[in-house]
Amino acid sequence: MDPGAPEPRPSPALRCAYCHDPADGATACPTCGTLTHPACREEAGGACPTLGCAHIATPAAAVTGEYLPRDPAAVINCLIALFAAAMVLGAALGYIARRY
Ligand SMILES: [Zn+2]
Ligand SMILES: [Zn+2]
Repeated sequence: MDPGAPEPRPSPALRCAYCHDPADGATACPTCGTLTHPACREEAGGACPTLGCAHIATPAAAVTGEYLPRDPAAVINCLIALFAAAMVLGAALGYIARRY
């Protein structure tokens, strides 16, 4: 098992982890089992309020209580990967060009 993975935390008093109201109608996070109301989950940008859970955005966002959408980070990572690929390709082409 992944040592960094969040573990399920069964709570004696079942409450929503986002609004702390009784967890009537709340659903469990598929990763860590934290209970949240569907509406609360939506308000949190679809992120799990549990620190370290795969469904959370960034730790900094969790401190301020604001959840950033995950997509911008994914786009930036994709751009970095494309840039790195272009650099490797450019270096390879330069190497080939010098040989002929
Ligand atoms: Zn709630
Ligand atoms: Zn979770």
